[in-house]
Amino acid sequence: MSVSSRLQPFGVTIFAEMTALAQAHDAINLGQGFPDWDGPDFVKQAAAESMRKGGSDQYPPMPGIPPLRQAIADRYSAKLGREIDPDTEVTVTCGCTEGLFASLVGLVDPGDEVVIINPYYDSYPVGVAMAGAVPRHVVLRPPDFRLDVDELAAAFSDRTKAILLNTPHNPSGRVFDRAEMEAVADLCIEHDVIAICDEVYEEITFGPEHIRLATLPGMEERTVTLSSVGKTYSLTGWKVGWAIAPHHLTAGVRAAHQYMTFTTPTPVQHGAVAALEAPETFYDELRESYRAKRDLLADGLTSVGFDVHIPDGTYFMLAGYSRFSGEDDRAFARRLVEQVGVAVIPPSVFYDDPADGHSLIRFAFCKQTPVLEAAVERLSRLSPN
Ligand code: PMP
Ligand code: GLN
Repeated sequence: MSVSSRLQPFGVTIFAEMTALAQAHDAINLGQGFPDWDGPDFVKQAAAESMRKGGSDQYPPMPGIPPLRQAIADRYSAKLGREIDPDTEVTVTCGCTEGLFASLVGLVDPGDEVVIINPYYDSYPVGVAMAGAVPRHVVLRPPDFRLDVDELAAAFSDRTKAILLNTPHNPSGRVFDRAEMEAVADLCIEHDVIAICDEVYEEITFGPEHIRLATLPGMEERTVTLSSVGKTYSLTGWKVGWAIAPHHLTAGVRAAHQYMTFTTPTPVQHGAVAALEAPETFYDELRESYRAKRDLLADGLTSVGFDVHIPDGTYFMLAGYSRFSGEDDRAFARRLVEQVGVAVIPPSVFYDDPADGHSLIRFAFCKQTPVLEAAVERLSRLSPN
C-alpha cells in the first residue's frame, strides 16, 4: 500500500518540512507564511458569539451561510465593478486552497491543459494532477519576474482549458501590471480559456494597483476570482475562502465543492462576516504595517549582504545569497536553519524545473518586528564566501 501514483511526484510540502525543521532547531521561522500574531478581536468575537448563542453547530448550507455570501457579494461588487449575486455567484470554500481544487476538478477535464506560472503556490500542480489535467509551465525570471508574453503565448493552444494566475504573486512579490494582465486576458479570450485567479494577497500591496483579471473586457464570463480570510485578516488557521464566478462557472466549482468538503465550519463563517465588514482604515493599517516590516527586513538583509528583490505586494521577499554561498537553495536553507537559526523557504520547489529557482531563498515578513530584527541579527553572523 502506498501513495497513489498521481500524488507520488509531489512528496511532502515544503511548508510542513521547514516548519518542522524550524521547531527542531529552535529557529526563527521566516519560512511558512503565517503571521505570528492572532487575528482581530472583533472577528474572533463574532465567531465566539455564534458558538455561544447556539445554532452554529450543524452543517451550514453547502455554498456558505447567507450572511457571508451577502458580505462577499457586497464587498466584491464594488471591486469587480458589477453586481455579484450571492446566491448564484459566490461559494464559500475551505480556504483559497479548496477553491483552487474545486475550480480545477469542477471545471477542467482529464487531458485538458492548464497554464501554471512558475514559481507557484505548491498546491497548483497537485490540483492540476488531481483533475487529471496536464500542466503547461511558464517561468518568471529574476531580476524583474515579468510575465514574458511570448513564452506565455507559446504555452496556450487549443488544448488549454484554464490558467492559474496569482497576483499579487507569491513568492516574487510582483503585482502584475496592466500590460501583463491584458496579455493574459487576450490569450484567454483568443483560446477560450477559463482564468482561475488566486488573489489572496489582494490587500497587501505597496504602491502598484492590484488589477483584477475579472474586470478586464471579455473576462467577466470566464474568470473565477478566489480569495480567503487567511492573509487579509491574519487568520490562516481558519481556512475560510471564497470563489466568485458567473453562474455557469460557479456550477462547476460547486459540483466539486459539494463532494470535496460540502461546507466550511459554521462559526468561522460567522466570524468572516465581521471581517468583511471591517472599515477601510483596517486595510490601510494592514498595508502600512506590512510596508514597515518589508522595509525593515529589506534594509536588514541588504546590510547583511543579501541581494534583495523588493516586493510590491504579499508578505514575501526573495533574496540572492551569492555573497555567502554557491550551494543550491535547499542546501543553503538547510544550513541557515541548522547553523544560523533562521528558517526560510527554498523556492526551487515552486518550479517545474527546480534549476530555474535554485539561487534564491524566500523570507516571510509576516512576523513581529522584534522577530524580524532578531533574524537579521542572526543572519549578520553569516560569513561571506
Ligand atoms: N494562494 C497562495 C498564493 C498562497 O500563498 C496561499 C497560502 N499561503 C494560499 C493560496 C492558501 O490560501 P488558504 O490558506 O486560504 O487556503
Ligand atoms: N502559502 C503559504 C506560504 O507560501 C503557506 C501555505 C501552507 O502552509 N500550505 O508560505
